[in-house]
Order: sequence, then C-alpha cells, then structure tokens
Amino acid sequence: MPKTPLANRPHDHSHCVHSALAEADALCARQGVRLTALRRRVLELVWQSHKPLGAYDILAVLSEQDGRRAAPPTVYRALDFLLENSLVHRIASLNAFIGCSHPEHAHQGQFLICRECHVAIELEQSSISDAIVASAKEVGFSVEAQTVEVVGLCGNCRSA
Ligand SMILES: [Zn+2]
Ligand SMILES: [Zn+2]
Ligand SMILES: [Zn+2]
Repeated sequence: MPKTPLANRPHDHSHCVHSALAEADALCARQGVRLTALRRRVLELVWQSHKPLGAYDILAVLSEQDGRRAAPPTVYRALDFLLENSLVHRIASLNAFIGCSHPEHAHQGQFLICRECHVAIELEQSSISDAIVASAKEVGFSVEAQTVEVVGLCGNCRSA
C-alpha cells in the first residue's frame, strides 16, 4: 500500500494554513526579517490549497477579495521575500508558487506534480539532491540550486 500524502487526503486544510502562517511568523522573528501584512497575506494565498498558484492568481484575489490594488511588482517582491526565506518554492514548469511545509531546515525542492488535478506533493529525499550534486560534480558542475519537478498522475486521479 503506498502512503497517501496529505495533499491527496481529505483533511482540515485550515489547519495547514494556520500552522504555515504560525511557522512563518516564528521563522521571520528568529531571522529578524519582517513578515509584513502583504507578505503574510500573499503566503496565506499561496497556501490556499496544495496546488501551485501563479502570481496573477494572487493579484486577482488581492484585488477581488481584499479590494487592494496591489501592483504586480509589489506582489513579485513579496514572493521573492517568501522564496528567499524558504517559505515557498517556485514551480518553474507551471510558473507558480507553492507553500513549503518544512521551511525550518534547508532543503532542495522536489515535487511530484499531477498533470490532472495539479496537486504538487513535496518530497524530502536528500538522496535525490545528493545524487544530482554527485552527478553534476562528475562533469565539473557546481550546483547552486535545484528544484526537481516530476510530472505524472497522483493517487487520487489514478483511482478516479
Ligand atoms: Zn492542507
Ligand atoms: Zn520545501
Ligand atoms: Zn491528481
């Protein structure tokens, strides 16, 4: 029996959002950086589901729900802040962002992305990043950052 990731299980998602925001507050306080109201709100929006969200979707919600006419550069800067502080990951293939569920320790992003429902499941396998670093080293390449994006079908969509 394969393990069912949280993203594929019915669960109280408000708990995910709540703990992600609480963790962000604590992490920013520890690092002495400011989680402004906008940065926090953008993080909350990224966390609205376990599916990556694009910057324009974030902008749309900000203007619709918050009546806030946030300029795109403002939102991009907020996203950059969240990326720099490891609170979100960027999914390049979808040009979108996803909240990180374990920002407290350094890790490389590894994602299983469902092509059907677009859920993104984060893996945490240092053996994968180690293998990439070792293979890169063999060709004289020094790895600075790596995000692994794997496309396929999630358990829910496979059984649907
Ligand atoms: Zn959740
Ligand atoms: Zn992560
Ligand atoms: Zn799926």
